[in-house]
Amino acid sequence: MKSRSNSTPLVIVHYDEIALKGGNRADFERQLVRNLNDMLKARALPLHARNARGRIFIERREENTAPPEGWRETLRAALALFPGVAYFGFTEVAEKSMEALAALAPVFAGRVMGHTFRVTARRVDKRFAFTSTEIERAFAAAIFRAAPDGALKAAMRNFQREVQVEVLEGSIIAYLKEPGIGGLAVGSSGRAVPLLSAGFDSPVATFLMMKRGVKAHPVHFHSMPLVSDESLEAAKDLARRLSDIQGRLTLALVPVLPIQEHIREHAPERLRIVLLRRSFMRLACSYAEEIGALALITGESVGQVASQTLENMRAIDNAATLPVLRPLCGMNKREIIDLARAIGTERTSARPCDDTCSLFLPRRPETKAKIDAVLAAEERLALAPLEEEALANRVLAHFHFGTERE
Ligand code: ATP
Ligand code: MG
Repeated sequence: MKSRSNSTPLVIVHYDEIALKGGNRADFERQLVRNLNDMLKARALPLHARNARGRIFIERREENTAPPEGWRETLRAALALFPGVAYFGFTEVAEKSMEALAALAPVFAGRVMGHTFRVTARRVDKRFAFTSTEIERAFAAAIFRAAPDGALKAAMRNFQREVQVEVLEGSIIAYLKEPGIGGLAVGSSGRAVPLLSAGFDSPVATFLMMKRGVKAHPVHFHSMPLVSDESLEAAKDLARRLSDIQGRLTLALVPVLPIQEHIREHAPERLRIVLLRRSFMRLACSYAEEIGALALITGESVGQVASQTLENMRAIDNAATLPVLRPLCGMNKREIIDLARAIGTERTSARPCDDTCSLFLPRRPETKAKIDAVLAAEERLALAPLEEEALANRVLAHFHFGTERE
């Protein structure tokens, strides 16, 4: 039998939607536990995650090894953006009595200070002498007693903080619930290829799909050596940051200068952007087929820039042989930038750099590309061999939880 300290979790992790997935439930749970263990190992935390009755316990890997200093901050930052984690909490542990539980009250009074709160109790050990409701009342009262008069306010609904108490077999644990981002564990919805530029939008779009369980294999198209390596470095920084959330992540860097030059020489100026975007679609689809990905992802939002009208999206989509997911299509720039800040990509995306398209921008880009005109212009080009060459010349960069790997 495991010793008690080893089976008392340091952290509890809850998931929500996974439970709705019926028959696949066990697979989803396993994927989330696997992802969490991968993260704990990569962050050099001597901790281990395991599934425990519809939630996940994070425990010491070995009974006597104390986690390193700062482990809570490291883990909190990771769990707050971990796809599939609905909420989590760092536990305080007490002996199995109401008095021992009440002794934890000052800690929680500090954690809920200035907010409305409630206590929720759950008994895994049903033989415990008090009901859940009795535990809730008693612990809430103890928390009130531990705080200065008037500093706290209880609320059964619309509370801002929730203190969870669980009576386990060998101990009582209590924790403040901290919100995660929910969604599904990365890897449980298959693979997709995000078109990752150095801007604000595509990293956010990638994040939103990772949150839906999609494993991202991003591609970045660059115009080196005509431009400096700024956009390439920015794309790598963004990929590194996204790997903090996804875990293992491979970025494909694809050189597209010969394609751009060909389009510039042989196509009507107004159609350049749409034609280049169509080329991006074909390149990304070929790459996706190669690696077994089922969809593309872009950061487009309807009407955001001249090239992102419904007409142009239709003309661009028409070159794709896989579904194109556009999770930002109904979002405003403000909302997108707020998300970029939350996931830590905003600063990199704000860095000025010459990307492929700014160099290539016509004076008056087409905003309502007619599909027939686009196809006619494309027919006069010889892009297929250039696209094949571009894909063959790709360079891969591998990341794992924030570090680049060989
Ligand atoms: P972003 O902020 O993501 O750069 P944007 O508002 O600048 O988007 P566009 O430049 O029109 O919009 O690009 C639309 C989408 O095309 C991007 O969101 C991205 O998915 C893709 N894309 C653009 N440029 C590149 C590139 N150099 N490499 C890969 N994908 C790109
Ligand atoms: Mg851009």
